Amino acid sequence: SIILAIESSCDDTSVSICNNGEITSNVIANQTIHQNYGGVIPELASRVHQQNIVPTVTQALIDAGVTKQDITAVAFTRGPGLLGSLLVGVSFAKSFALALNIPLISVNHMHAHILAHFIPARSAGGDEPKPAFPFLCLTVSGGHTQIVLVKDFFDMEVVGETLDDAAGEAFDKTAKILSLPYPGGPLIDKHAKLGNPNAFKFAVPQIADLNFSFSGFKTSILYFIRKQEKVNPNFIAENLDDICASVQHSIIEILMNKLKMASKLYGINEIAIAGGVSANSGLRQALQNGAVDYGWKVYVPAFQYCTDNAGMIAIAGYHKFLKNDFADQSVSPLARMEF
Ligand code: ATP
Ligand code: FE
Repeated sequence: SIILAIESSCDDTSVSICNNGEITSNVIANQTIHQNYGGVIPELASRVHQQNIVPTVTQALIDAGVTKQDITAVAFTRGPGLLGSLLVGVSFAKSFALALNIPLISVNHMHAHILAHFIPARSAGGDEPKPAFPFLCLTVSGGHTQIVLVKDFFDMEVVGETLDDAAGEAFDKTAKILSLPYPGGPLIDKHAKLGNPNAFKFAVPQIADLNFSFSGFKTSILYFIRKQEKVNPNFIAENLDDICASVQHSIIEILMNKLKMASKLYGINEIAIAGGVSANSGLRQALQNGAVDYGWKVYVPAFQYCTDNAGMIAIAGYHKFLKNDFADQSVSPLARMEF
């Protein structure tokens, strides 16, 4: 099978080709326009998707060395995400499938973040083994923070999630407080490498179960910074690395504590991370430490498959294709989508 996959749930237009389970292209057209606004503007995002979708598909075909006529099926992100953005990808996928008379495959974006672990090592640029079912996956992204019990490819259960902000938002909103450009997660990561993680302490939320909360944490950072700036107007500039290192350290502590709790509760030692924040070097290191400290078998996705990409949609689509699980032309996007 040769599957063409389309991802357009947020601000990146991405197209990937999966050739018999192998990712042979994964093109991502980033939208830089949102940097001027400190966040994604949905109305602008859908318009730029509309401009980018055809050239991105063309490039993905060229990179994979295939033509439209070679495609067996079209996979697309149905949701969750921004409705206007999703509409562009879903409409394109439907038209493409209709024109070529090939089947459609609907993919849940959050499933796909997790299934990125099943992209073969050769295309991921490493030789990491794959997680064995059942495993626990901490999915940390711009819109979600979930602990997922993954029983099979499409048999997953959310056992813990955020009650307010996502981990990615905690990174991005902190970056905004520090006047770093959007999206700030990668920049906090960069500065954190140069700072002292124990320089400052922030209030870590106390929640007994597997759920998360980041809104109070974010507020405590805001108040802390404001207070310090009253004493020293240059506080941020003079302490940027230490602030970033301390904030990142606290976020990782919150995430790792819940992972530990979930691992104990379910008696599962196969532990994976997924989503944009799994690109964070501190979190990746903390997980590796978990392998040593708790005897976990840990799985970290290849860097390029952490943030939004169509490679993960393609691999999810491939596994649905193997089960003959197809969508029909009446399918429509969903801003919120059940697991
Ligand atoms: P969702 O998948 O929940 O719909 P999304 O698709 O917008 O949300 P992703 O693309 O998976 O989210 O992840 C984007 C998030 O990852 C952003 O919040 C970004 O700041 C964060 N992120 C990316 N790289 C890093 C990093 N190195 N350190 C911390 N955060 C990071
Ligand atoms: Fe995502």
